[in-house]
Amino acid sequence: MENAPQPPGQTPSERLSELNRAILESALDCIITMDADGLVREFNPAAERVFGYRREDVIGQELASLIIPPVLRERHRQGLAKYLETGEGPVLGRRIEIAAVRADGTEILVELAITPLQVSGRPTFTAYLRDITERVRTERRRVAQYSVASLLAGPSSLREIGPQILQTIAASGDWVFGAIWVKRELDAALKCAATWRSEADGLAEFEEVTRATSLIGSKGLPGRVLASEDAVWVPDVANDPAFVRASAAQVANLHGAFAFPLCGEGGPIGVLELFSHSTVHPDEDLLQLVEALGSQIGLFIHRRQMQKELQRQKEAAEAANAAKDQFLANLSHELRTPLTPVLIWAGAMAGDEMLSADMRDGMQMVCRNVELEARLIDDLLDLTRITRGKLQLNLRNADAHELLRHAVEIVRSDIETRNLTLHVAFEATNGSLTVDPPRLQQVFWNVLRNAAKFTPARGSIAVRTFNRTPATFNVEVADTGIGIEPQHLEKIFDAFEQVGSRGEGLGLGLAISKAVVEMHGGSIRALSPGAGKGATFAIELAAM
Ligand code: ADP
Repeated sequence: MENAPQPPGQTPSERLSELNRAILESALDCIITMDADGLVREFNPAAERVFGYRREDVIGQELASLIIPPVLRERHRQGLAKYLETGEGPVLGRRIEIAAVRADGTEILVELAITPLQVSGRPTFTAYLRDITERVRTERRRVAQYSVASLLAGPSSLREIGPQILQTIAASGDWVFGAIWVKRELDAALKCAATWRSEADGLAEFEEVTRATSLIGSKGLPGRVLASEDAVWVPDVANDPAFVRASAAQVANLHGAFAFPLCGEGGPIGVLELFSHSTVHPDEDLLQLVEALGSQIGLFIHRRQMQKELQRQKEAAEAANAAKDQFLANLSHELRTPLTPVLIWAGAMAGDEMLSADMRDGMQMVCRNVELEARLIDDLLDLTRITRGKLQLNLRNADAHELLRHAVEIVRSDIETRNLTLHVAFEATNGSLTVDPPRLQQVFWNVLRNAAKFTPARGSIAVRTFNRTPATFNVEVADTGIGIEPQHLEKIFDAFEQVGSRGEGLGLGLAISKAVVEMHGGSIRALSPGAGKGATFAIELAAM
């Protein structure tokens, strides 16, 4: 390799130091050299930029008093003395992260590596530093944002996660106390919903005062933030006449405060405040952090408030429903009781030979109508028993065919009056069931009565039983009547549901039948090809 031409008159050592200077000047990292007395020997341009000192002002000065934060200075001096005495330096030759201080007094975070060198028999230390303040802050912000977001995504209430949220945000500075305030919907007063305090002494009382305080309008720091919809810095709350809790803050030695709005969907609904022992100044970094968090926490509070409101409405609706059921139960009972003596008396009179035929016909008409009314009320009573879980089955063995036969007999006169044809086919070989016989007969009768009611004159009704499997007893009641639209096939089993028809009845028969069949472990469903095309009701029960 060709030797580079040397400028005339330069010795090799002059040449070396010029090279050194070029390296120092072009380096991106701060390079600071300190001698064994702790004095600055070199301070490159990058160090000048980061620390705000001029090289000529710091050469020969004690490094400790320039760039090392006051609280670390003594440790630094002792470390140097120990190294000179023993040759041991735990921070040497390693990469460490540490606080440093700039000429204007602001603190920064640096990554630092120190290399000791012997120069003319004495140790010299070269420090390579890099300002990592921004990187660390961004990282901290990211961690805080992530931690708060994962807290907000959980199922917990603000009361439960509030302290953790406050602690996470407080970790971004020297904050020792924090509180979350939420606007009460009732009177728009701000009430404290969560607090967090550090281990520092004297904060419990301030916490108590904060929790007991309620602020109306733009009063106090939270009120001011809510009204302005903007973050507020207070250098010293203890001496701020507008700060409601000033005397408590004085006792707790709290001075600096920072508060920002928490925004829900319709604007700010709360405030988060932080306090420190020292006075504070606006910090752009913290502002950036809370900008996103403010709306995340606000939306969370908004969501929880909505859920609470929905829950309240649900409970109110359930209470109203229970009151309605209770009312129906009482009403049905009160209506039913007076009918019994009327029926007994009218029944006896209807058969009294001493009375004229007209009179007896009249009594029969009274009986029929009172019976009808009694049946409607019985349905209502059954329904209220079902909804209140009070319907009980008295199970015993019974022949399902027998029950069905009785039900057919009860509706037979209806069928005949309407000129309907009835086909009965009992094909099931196993009709022995464990059931509540009167209840099951009531189900069969409901379905048969509907078939008769919804089938026009000269139509037909077919009743068939079979065992779909050896373990089931199946009944099908098919009619050629008005049929059911597909969209109503399920709805007709709801209480008070009557589709298109306004015949006698309350729309309870099928609701009661479904509940009774299901209490037996069976099923009932309606099938129909559509309006005017007849309907089939299929019941399946467990056979023995
Ligand atoms: P109700 O007969 O007292 O109205 P139900 O609960 O027994 O009450 O029946 C509910 C509704 O289901 C009836 O109003 C009617 O619209 C429909 N429905 C029941 N059975 C039939 C049927 N066989 N054919 C057509 N529609 C029916």
